[in-house]
Amino acid sequence: MNKSYCPSLTEYKRRKTRVVNIGGVPMGGDYPIRVQSMTTVDTMDTLGSVEQCIRMIEAGCEYIRITAPSIKEAENLKNIKDELNRRGYNVPLVADIHFTPNAAEVAARIIEKVRVNPGNYADKKKFEVIEYNDETYQAELDRIRERFLPLVRICKEHGTAMRIGTNHGSLSDRILSRYGDTPLGMVESALEFIRICESESYYDLVISMKASNTQVMVQAYRLLVQKLDEEGLQPYPLHLGVTEAGEAEDGRIKSAVGIGTLLEDGLGDTVRVSLTEAPEAEAPVAKALIDRYIHRAEKAQPIKPICNVPIDPFQYHRRATIEVENLGAQNVPRVIADLSRLTDVQYADLKSVGHLYSMLLDKFNMNDLGADYIYTADNPITFMLPNGLKEIVNYSSWQKAEHSEHRHPLLTTEQYLSDQPRHAKINFIMATINDLTSEVLEKLKTDGTAVLMLHTTNEHAMPELRKCFFRLMNNDVQVPCIIKREYGQLTSDEVQLYASTDVGGLLIDGLGDGIMLGTELLPEQEKGVWLQTIDALNKLSFGILQAARTRMSKTEYISCPSCGRTLFDLQETTAMIRKRTDHLKGVKIGIMGCIVNGPGEMADADYGYVGVGKDKIALYRGQTVVKKSVPADRAVDELIELIREDARWIEPVVLEE
Ligand code: SF4
Repeated sequence: MNKSYCPSLTEYKRRKTRVVNIGGVPMGGDYPIRVQSMTTVDTMDTLGSVEQCIRMIEAGCEYIRITAPSIKEAENLKNIKDELNRRGYNVPLVADIHFTPNAAEVAARIIEKVRVNPGNYADKKKFEVIEYNDETYQAELDRIRERFLPLVRICKEHGTAMRIGTNHGSLSDRILSRYGDTPLGMVESALEFIRICESESYYDLVISMKASNTQVMVQAYRLLVQKLDEEGLQPYPLHLGVTEAGEAEDGRIKSAVGIGTLLEDGLGDTVRVSLTEAPEAEAPVAKALIDRYIHRAEKAQPIKPICNVPIDPFQYHRRATIEVENLGAQNVPRVIADLSRLTDVQYADLKSVGHLYSMLLDKFNMNDLGADYIYTADNPITFMLPNGLKEIVNYSSWQKAEHSEHRHPLLTTEQYLSDQPRHAKINFIMATINDLTSEVLEKLKTDGTAVLMLHTTNEHAMPELRKCFFRLMNNDVQVPCIIKREYGQLTSDEVQLYASTDVGGLLIDGLGDGIMLGTELLPEQEKGVWLQTIDALNKLSFGILQAARTRMSKTEYISCPSCGRTLFDLQETTAMIRKRTDHLKGVKIGIMGCIVNGPGEMADADYGYVGVGKDKIALYRGQTVVKKSVPADRAVDELIELIREDARWIEPVVLEE
């Protein structure tokens, strides 16, 4: 199988793409990776749209997308554009089209770019499984061609660019029937439209493969690149995004896992981060993700090329490992909290890693984000740890301290190769790529107690760690591995995005049996500040595991970023639903602003809360609507009722302190 999807798996190189001119702000080639976002104001509100566009431009947006659900909104784009120009803003505008070719044809004559969704440009979604044979499938393609050609010709004539934007949640019935709900289906959906464009010698295309499932999203972009090359189609620029990423921390982590993973491999020419927040909050996140690569190539230490890629980059398979206690094999990836900077850990301090001590009951309770291990370096804990929590200490301190079943040593590879005493069940070994010598690999092969803790100081961190995993796999070493990353004096926002990228990028390919976000590089600070940092890193670790779909520890919200079609205040509603349901571990709830795209976009959700009219909500169980028009003031109660009917509701528990 051809596994090639990027210029290099070891060296930072951007994929060479075709340059597409979009209203004087070119995308692709050697041009910077561009930032963009989408307005949420009603497109018919010209001044409101203009003012929001200006806020977005000031926040860093280089292109702005505006929804055009019908001809009247498409026509109003001219007023928005004129008013922006009058105020001195020449940002290229992009019309967002779903279901309405006639609106696209109007918009393409007015503004710089049109986004079409191949899943619904010429198809009405019926959620029916229709069997197509080659003949009926071809007839469908001919129908699409006829419907799509006028837009292609208008774009060509007016120098308008086009994004062919596939969404995992809105694939056509035709694609679903032949390829299923898969990355290949997403890719084929775009290829059908690209082939039509190329047959007309129209090449001003940008392509996206969005999904709210980060694994599906990453696989689809990679497969797209591979298929474009294989078919000899043009190397079109890529627009990266994770759809319905949600809000706040979860939305940022999920975006970084998906987008960052691709940026690491040099894929992506423009980024849109979709958050359920004001659109001007999105650009700084996109910019922070992109800016990390400006000097990457110069700062990175060289990594030797990879001869054999032992994973399938287009499909998720977890690396095969042996089980060492609760690590590796089928165990969920574990979280190790770094407490090494605390010298006198007390019962109450463990609250920062999800283990709450109740003085009243004289016992510990664990919340859903309870760390599995704590690393205390040379300051072993002096009291009995709560059930289920284990400790890792440096080897020399482990030798001196009282031995216990739940206290494990962390060795260097030199210590590992020596014949010193060991823990009977788990021994952690810290290693960089240079430590993985043939002698170490040989010893690891037959060791049923070893767990590697892989780390690096290379700027090109994720690819170097990935190479460590490849070396283990190519040498048939099946010990579980913890991914350790640490960051110096970065802002907490940067740590959140960088750690999500570095660790998420490995987890997405099934690499990694645990995560430890280290504190060693951080400057000295007060104990209270340390505890806050540890708490934040612990939450971040669980967030990354969830965003990479490897360990579910909280409710997942798939909420749309809202746009001019939105029928209720998404931020407020999401906050209200979250408040009542955020203890439902592993349940996925879609919160969508409109019925037009909402049900399609929340393909992955277990339950859906979708706006259908003013103060009217439709509730979904999976993809099936179960309550068509519930008054908004009762909708959350009815949603909970639905979850209750499925026996998935549990009452929230308040942990005693
Ligand atoms: S689902 Fe949300 S973002 Fe998408 S079109 Fe509807 S309101 Fe707009």
